[in-house]
Amino acid sequence: MMIDPFGRRVTYLRVSVTDRCNYRCTYCMAEDMTFLPKVEILTLEELDRVCSAFVRRGVRKLRITGGEPLVRRDIMTLFRSLGRFLDSGEMDELTLTTNGSLLARYARDLAECGVRRVNVSLDSLDSERFAAITRGGRLSEVLSGLEAAKDAGLAVKINTVALKGLNEDEFDTLIAWCGRQGFDLTFIETMPMGEIDDDRTEHYLPLSVLRENLGERWTLIDVEDRTGGPARYVRIEETGRRLGLITPMTHNFCESCNRVRLTCTGMLYMCLGQTDSVDLREPLRASEGDELLMAAIDQAIARKPKGHDFVIEPGTDRPAVDRHMSVTGG
Ligand code: SAM
Ligand code: SF4
Repeated sequence: MMIDPFGRRVTYLRVSVTDRCNYRCTYCMAEDMTFLPKVEILTLEELDRVCSAFVRRGVRKLRITGGEPLVRRDIMTLFRSLGRFLDSGEMDELTLTTNGSLLARYARDLAECGVRRVNVSLDSLDSERFAAITRGGRLSEVLSGLEAAKDAGLAVKINTVALKGLNEDEFDTLIAWCGRQGFDLTFIETMPMGEIDDDRTEHYLPLSVLRENLGERWTLIDVEDRTGGPARYVRIEETGRRLGLITPMTHNFCESCNRVRLTCTGMLYMCLGQTDSVDLREPLRASEGDELLMAAIDQAIARKPKGHDFVIEPGTDRPAVDRHMSVTGG
C-alpha cells in the first residue's frame, strides 16, 4: 500500500502515454509545438511495467491520457494488457481521457479491454468554433466517436474547459445536449500550465461565477459525490444528469488527494501544481527486474506534498507550472 506522509492513500494513477496530439487546443498547446524525441518516451512495454508496479502497490484506478492517447501507435496493446488487472480483481477501473476524434475506430476495442467509461473533451458544439479552439479539429469526427462509444456501451462524461468570450454562451446548450444524450458533463477552469500563444488570463472564467449564473436557469442540487480530486458535483434537476465543476486552483480538495501522475517520459509528479518529480524511467531502464523501480516509487510517495500553489494573475506572462498539460496528462 502507498500511504503518503499526510496519511493519504494513493490509489489512482494517471498516465500520459504520449505528448503528441492531432489537435492544438489554444489553451493547451502552442500552434507550432515541438514534441519530444521518441527515445525519451516510455515504450509500451515500459508503460505496462510501470503501471503493473503501481497496481502491485495498491493502485485501483488507472486513467490513460496524453496528449491524445489514441494517436499512440498500438495503444490497444497496452489497454489489452492492463485489462488483465480488471479480470483478476486487482484493479477497479481502467479508463481514458480523449478528444474523441478516434473513438469511432477504437470504442469497441476499448470496451473489449474492460473500459467502461470515457471522458471526452468537447468545448463547443458549433463546428466553426470547434475548429478554431482546436485549431483544425472536425466536430463531426468527435460526434461520430461519441455515437460509437454509446453503441459500445461506454458511459461518457464530457469535459468542457470554460473559456470566457469563447464558449460561455454555449453552456446552456451543452447542458441540455448532454441531458438528451445521457452524458454527464464537467466544466474545467483553465490552469496556467506550459507556454501557449495566447494570454490565458484573457479567457479565465472562475467557475464560482459560472455556477451562480447557471443557477438562474437550472435547478442545481448539491450532491456529496467525491472522487478525491478537485471536482465538486451537482445534479441538474431538469436533465437528471450530474454536472461537475473542476476548480484546480482552489486548495480545498488537497486533503483528500488520492492520485499521482506519470508523464510520457516517466517522470512521476506527486502533485499537479508542484514541480517536484521523481524519475522512474532511469530505474525502469537500469535493470530488467523491478526492485529499483519499486524503491523509486516508494521514495516518491514519501515526498507527496500537502498541497499546491497555482496562481493565475492577469498580466503575468509566465505559466505557474512550466510543463504543458499534454505532457503531464489531464
Ligand atoms: N487529448 C485528450 C483530451 O483533450 O481529452 C487528453 C489530454 S488533455 C491534456 C486532458 C484535459 O485537459 C482535456 O479535457 C483538456 O481540455 C484539459 N486541459 C488542457 N490544458 C488545460 C489547461 N491549461 N487548463 C485546464 N484544462 C486543460
Ligand atoms: Fe490535444 Fe487534448 Fe491538448 Fe486539445 S486538450 S491539444 S486534444 S491534448
